[in-house]
Amino acid sequence: MKKHNFSAGPCILPEEVLIKASEAVINFNNDNLSLLEISHRSKPFVAVMEKARSLALELLGLENKGYRALFLQGGASLEFLMVAYNLLHKKAAYLNTGTWSDKAIKEASSFGEVVEVASSKDKGFSYIPKNYQIPEDADYFHCTSNNTVAGTQIKTFPDTKVPLVCDMSSDIFSRQLDFEKFDLIYAGAQKNMGPAGTTLIIIKESILGKVERHIPSMLNYKTHIEKDSMFNTPAVFPVYVSMLTMQWLKDLGGISFIEKVNDKKATLLYSEIDRNSLFNGIVAKEDRSTMNATFNLVDESYKDKFDSMCVAAGISGINGHRSVGGYRASMYNALPLYSVQALVDVMQELERSV
Ligand SMILES: *Cc1c(COP(=O)(O)O)cnc(C)c1O
Repeated sequence: MKKHNFSAGPCILPEEVLIKASEAVINFNNDNLSLLEISHRSKPFVAVMEKARSLALELLGLENKGYRALFLQGGASLEFLMVAYNLLHKKAAYLNTGTWSDKAIKEASSFGEVVEVASSKDKGFSYIPKNYQIPEDADYFHCTSNNTVAGTQIKTFPDTKVPLVCDMSSDIFSRQLDFEKFDLIYAGAQKNMGPAGTTLIIIKESILGKVERHIPSMLNYKTHIEKDSMFNTPAVFPVYVSMLTMQWLKDLGGISFIEKVNDKKATLLYSEIDRNSLFNGIVAKEDRSTMNATFNLVDESYKDKFDSMCVAAGISGINGHRSVGGYRASMYNALPLYSVQALVDVMQELERSV
């Protein structure tokens, strides 16, 4: 039986997606060739890329609204740099909510003035700062919707006149938001969409063309928009698997459906963390992530026992990030409710046994 996979990333994908993807590696499209050995300019693959780009906009409700979807390489980490390269003329505003925002800020600083509007570094990124001011003359405001490492999530996004840029790597397609509020969204595939190797970028075309610097072709969003994400060879397999996952989500009922499932899973686990006297949640309750739940054992001496009980129950990937410690249970879209129940059962079993 497959393990209960709580990995933070690369992470769990739907079983049916894995089956279809493995079939395509052997025989894609009944053409008796592998997906991996055909031209990315062939009709069947161009159709995959077009489908992936249109499904992304469809799921977010952003079709025919001036947005373009791109599938590029380099991970979310390259977007830290590309966002600034393409948008930072003089000054940009950033919200610092953790490891990933911190890295985004570092990259942007090479291109102009970066104003950190607020930071939760003072308390180990265990909460989301609120009531900060975004300078009206900023070229854009950047935030991280879900902090994969700390386990916090922005619930309300600021109303601002400056373009809103968001790293949604670890909660894209997991909850309903007013996506039209955003001017640029990016997400590495390997958290909630597909294998590592491709990054989804959703961009409002009208925000481009405002910086004066020369932008190298590969780092210029316009290049990739003009060439429909086919300027150079795309990551064919990650794009294909991402397309299958988006199709799986659409067939289930889209984001509004999966959001309910995700809320159920998060409620089940956090209720147990709060009820069970052996465990403590790590972050501020109102900022808890529905994707990555971080928690500690109150008494560390139970660690070996709890860990071996988890192994026996087939639970995998719940060790906290090395910078936080403790535990982190990642509950991405493809993780079934029964896996969360299995973890809760072990937490209760530990309680009975001590
Ligand atoms: C994992 C992660 C990243 C880094 O993604 P790469 O694709 O490895 O570059 C950036 N931001 C967030 C929120 C993440 O979870």
